[in-house]
Amino acid sequence: MSMPLETASLCPYCLRRVPARRIFSGNDVQLVKECPEHGRTSTVIWRGTPSMPTWRRPKTPSRPPVCFTESKHGCPFDCGLCPDHGQHSCSALLEITQRCNLHCPVCFADSGDTGTADPDLETIESWYRSVRHACGDHIAVQLSGGEPTVRQDLPEIIAAGRRHGFSFLQLNTNGLRVAKDPNYARQLKEAGLATMFLQFDGTDDTIYRKLRGRDLLEIKLRAIDHAVAARLGVVLVPTIVPRVNTQNIGDILRFGLERSPGVRGVHFQPISYFGRFPYPPADEDRITLPEILQAIERQSGGDMRVDHFAPPGCEHSLCSFHGNFVSLPDGRLHALTDPSSSCCCKPIVAAEGARKSTAFLTRQWAAPESATEQKKKTGTEACGCEPAASDLDDFLQRVKTHTFAVSAMAFQDAWNVDLERTRNCCIHVVAPDGRLVPFCLYNLTSAEGKTLYRGHNRADVAH
Ligand SMILES: [Zn+2]
Repeated sequence: MSMPLETASLCPYCLRRVPARRIFSGNDVQLVKECPEHGRTSTVIWRGTPSMPTWRRPKTPSRPPVCFTESKHGCPFDCGLCPDHGQHSCSALLEITQRCNLHCPVCFADSGDTGTADPDLETIESWYRSVRHACGDHIAVQLSGGEPTVRQDLPEIIAAGRRHGFSFLQLNTNGLRVAKDPNYARQLKEAGLATMFLQFDGTDDTIYRKLRGRDLLEIKLRAIDHAVAARLGVVLVPTIVPRVNTQNIGDILRFGLERSPGVRGVHFQPISYFGRFPYPPADEDRITLPEILQAIERQSGGDMRVDHFAPPGCEHSLCSFHGNFVSLPDGRLHALTDPSSSCCCKPIVAAEGARKSTAFLTRQWAAPESATEQKKKTGTEACGCEPAASDLDDFLQRVKTHTFAVSAMAFQDAWNVDLERTRNCCIHVVAPDGRLVPFCLYNLTSAEGKTLYRGHNRADVAH
């Protein structure tokens, strides 16, 4: 299978748009680019199998129905979104505070003591209106930060989101506040929250000490218990960092599965390098999607295999993978993903994935072990003439309740950014002025810490 080698990227030093090339060496791929002023950089973007050409999927662009900006300076300098964008939004991220109650060495949002005042509820409501206007209400709204739970009015913000018509509201959190008080999760649930995306980097405190500067496992456990008791969906979100928690991937999955169906799944994020980096991060400091897939297969003892996972049907195929599994009553896993119907434009709770997989299974399901299991459970005599319908029903019921979604999303930084991918992005940050900006472009920083979008108002975006 062939794929285009030419794409475009940004110079990591001056952020000007530069031509870039994907250079193959076996199944490893480097993104190589050259700035007339700052020279050549080369960054690993793919290592191993499934190979990039076999993973990549062609896609029919799905234009944003409403655009807040025009195409003037060219991609990626017109985000808002502009009419040249190749993908509608599936998920809108609202940064409701820049404050945080944890000072992590690793932070996507570059949070901390920024001195930036929180947007008031009225401003947040104007963002909800922007999102509603641009994307409709069939969209996941992520409340993010900073750490959103530092706001005392978070329940009001959630309730306002529901009032504006959004049915899927997701909280991105480190879990500190949720762990502290069992009533808090209930309060958020009552306000209308659907899911908690919990920063969860591993099952071992040495990992938290390295990435977050302190022991956190006990707190994560309490946060999960409180959220599950409040009937919030919980998705574990590990940032995967070479030599820190790559060996913990299997344990993270087992930890999640043991707490399924309360824990709905695991969403891995290979580390990206936002913030100041005077030198390009070394290739050894990166992990690519196929390496995470291989680690999942190896560390799950083959219970989850590389071929159980599919590329997305929504964002660019090089940005993510996903697979759905159902944990059977005897503890075994059954893979549900139908690779021919991959679409991840719905929230990670896998409602849509489960629906599709269920349709797939009713056509193709054949699992005699499970049938025996069901008969044992109900004490039904196996007479051979009983239709398998009740077994199927039981299984489908199990699919409904015990589907476990495993996915990963590879965010891009100034070194590995591929503008073909950002153009097809479906996760958009709502900038303070209401524009929608692809997540990676919003968070991207140059080697000197210069941003493309964060901290710029519409008027002072100059290129
Ligand atoms: Zn440059």
